[in-house]
Amino acid sequence: MDRPAFSCSTSLEIFQSQLARMNPCQKQAVEAGGYVLISAGAGTGKTGVLTLHFASLVHHHGIRPDQIMAVTFTNKACQEMRGRLERLLAMPLKSFWIGTFHGLCLRILKNHPESIGRRPGFTILDTKDQSRLIGKILKDLGGKTHHSPSYVLNIISQWKQQEVLPGQVKHFHDPLVAMAYTRYQEELFEMNSLDFDDLLSSCLYLFSQNPEILALYQKQFRHILVDEYQDINAVQYKWLKFLAVQCEGLFCVGDEDQSIYGWRGADVQNMLRFQQDFPGSAVLRLEDNYRSTPHILSAASHLIAHNQSRYGKVLRTAQNYGEKVHIQGLWDTQEEALFVADCILKAKAQGRRLSEIAILMRTSAQSREFEERFLVCRIPYHIIGNINFYERQEIRDFLGYIRLVHNDCDNLAFERIINVPKRGLGSMSLEKIHTYAKLHGVSLEEGARLLSQEQKVSPQLVLFLSQVKKWRQQASALSPMNLALEILHSSGYQTALEAQGIEGQARLDNVKELVQAMEPFHSLEEFLEHVGLLLEIRSNPGEESVTLMTLHSAKGLEFDEVFLPGWEENLFPHSRCLEESGNKGLEEERRLAYVGITRARQKSTISFCWNRKTYHGTVSSSPSRFIQEIPGKDTIIHLSLDKKVKKEQAYLSKGTQGSQFSSSAKSSFYSNSGSESNLQSGFQAGQRVRHEVFGLATVIHQNGDQVKVRFDQSGEKILISRFLKNAVFLIATFLGMI
Ligand code: ATP
Ligand code: MG
Repeated sequence: MDRPAFSCSTSLEIFQSQLARMNPCQKQAVEAGGYVLISAGAGTGKTGVLTLHFASLVHHHGIRPDQIMAVTFTNKACQEMRGRLERLLAMPLKSFWIGTFHGLCLRILKNHPESIGRRPGFTILDTKDQSRLIGKILKDLGGKTHHSPSYVLNIISQWKQQEVLPGQVKHFHDPLVAMAYTRYQEELFEMNSLDFDDLLSSCLYLFSQNPEILALYQKQFRHILVDEYQDINAVQYKWLKFLAVQCEGLFCVGDEDQSIYGWRGADVQNMLRFQQDFPGSAVLRLEDNYRSTPHILSAASHLIAHNQSRYGKVLRTAQNYGEKVHIQGLWDTQEEALFVADCILKAKAQGRRLSEIAILMRTSAQSREFEERFLVCRIPYHIIGNINFYERQEIRDFLGYIRLVHNDCDNLAFERIINVPKRGLGSMSLEKIHTYAKLHGVSLEEGARLLSQEQKVSPQLVLFLSQVKKWRQQASALSPMNLALEILHSSGYQTALEAQGIEGQARLDNVKELVQAMEPFHSLEEFLEHVGLLLEIRSNPGEESVTLMTLHSAKGLEFDEVFLPGWEENLFPHSRCLEESGNKGLEEERRLAYVGITRARQKSTISFCWNRKTYHGTVSSSPSRFIQEIPGKDTIIHLSLDKKVKKEQAYLSKGTQGSQFSSSAKSSFYSNSGSESNLQSGFQAGQRVRHEVFGLATVIHQNGDQVKVRFDQSGEKILISRFLKNAVFLIATFLGMI
């Protein structure tokens, strides 16, 4: 292939000026050859070094761009990388080998369909098609399983990720699922299709069975570059190794402290094993962070230091000024959204660009409260990795129930929910109802009722219709929220979502968020009107807007100002992770917190609510242990212990009168979170205690490591025992009496 035509002088100049900006360690990394792992903390320039390495191979070493493969994990990160490279090489790079693992595998497979038992033009099934297919298979198999299609697909996906072939499934408690897997693969073959997981496993199969094809790619990719290497899983690692054993250069960059995809099989051990697996490889470190202010960096470094399974590394800041991390307590989620919206409007008035502001959430369900507030305040926003709350499928489905109960003529709602969850009332049943309704000139629901009175219909339809009738009757007695709760349980929708694994849980969280959002409304009509209004307010495409996304999708990105809401026990760290994976889960959550804080260039604001509304009612929540792991010297704390009343630094109240802490004495006093000498594990009712961050309180009772206390200035809270100290002892120490 001819050398691609690109404007060499300009691109070379851009490259050289960027290279000149690099510090000596970064320069050494850019020019490193052979097998190289750059293991370095957040914001140290890893992605920058990787892209410069790519450009250096082209500009300095005569490698053609098509001889380099650059891999990353998400489409968003891939876009960013391609963008940076296009600027450095001053040429479009669409046709080169820059992509995600799945994207690159697909491209390779398209060149050799026959070798994996497919014909040219094979297709990739989307989730809906997969669900339909497995649903049909389960039905064909006799329908003797109570598992939902999503559950079965989830199990199959796990088998594929572990490279378990259909014939190799052993000891699975339900043999029907194993049989469904075999049939599913057979059907995929018949349909000339693959599913998403097949992309990697089929490519592995292709390479292992066809040495001559593997050799082609080994020859083609003289250099392989991998970003976010800490999140590589076993199959991706194997795939990479096939290609990398022969290459001239393997250049991987990563940070073990940012490994956040354990739940998808990512294994940080792959990163730690690099030198063993690639003999003669070099491990380089970068220690200067160019992204964040010293306080942001120090806060993040102290937080992550609480993790045991890490090597630990030096992270210096290249800046010497900047704001502290703001920590803001708020009464509830509504006030949290109000607070964030206010901050954004103020920042905007001071000249901050909205595109430089992000809200990074632990769960996507958190977005609802922010979206509603932003819509009302006219703050343009966009969501990465998901769609707007009220447009999500599960929200539209559930709103379908509310709409139908409210209005029996809402045919669209009827159509939407008649088979959600699956009731065996598919397109045939619906068609019959349609015809019947049309014939009698009535709504679909009425048509279905008439039909069921006149003919024998599916018992499931009879049940559904009687449920709808019951809900409608209940609507006058129950509050909209309680009615929604009743619908969620009795419709079977909750059970169906629960059976869908991690993704189903996230969907259920969204629906629960919707249910609790109904609390202030007195009627279904009022609530539906509210939703209708929200849906009408839209921001103009292309307008500067704030970014909303989950912490998981924020990897590798950076913003001037970042808001980190919902730092409360149970939400963050998420109780599900702790229940399922114990300390391992906690450490992964802490890495997520580290990723969050380190996304900010100039300002990072962490917030938590003292009360979180759930559909069980408002529950008192306690601040995340992660907040308490950040040293006081790096933070400014604002506590709003009462609704709408902000009582800053409330801990300087009763009990410390006479001892006026200066702000510096206070910060060194509180920042000493490493000193555990005066921490106490057992507390008596009535005992006066001081919380590291939140001040003085009286113990009500203790349950394990949770202590219920009453703050002097506010209500009762549950806090973690290890962050409470005996107040008398502490004050005496501080005053130099002991
Ligand atoms: P993450 O761990 O979050 O993926 P990273 O290590 O990949 O971060 P980059 O995104 O490459 O870091 O760089 C972080 C920021 O620091 C970017 O804004 C980049 O432009 C800037 N930066 C990197 N190196 C330098 C340097 N030598 N001089 C000035 N700025 C730099
Ligand atoms: Mg990066």
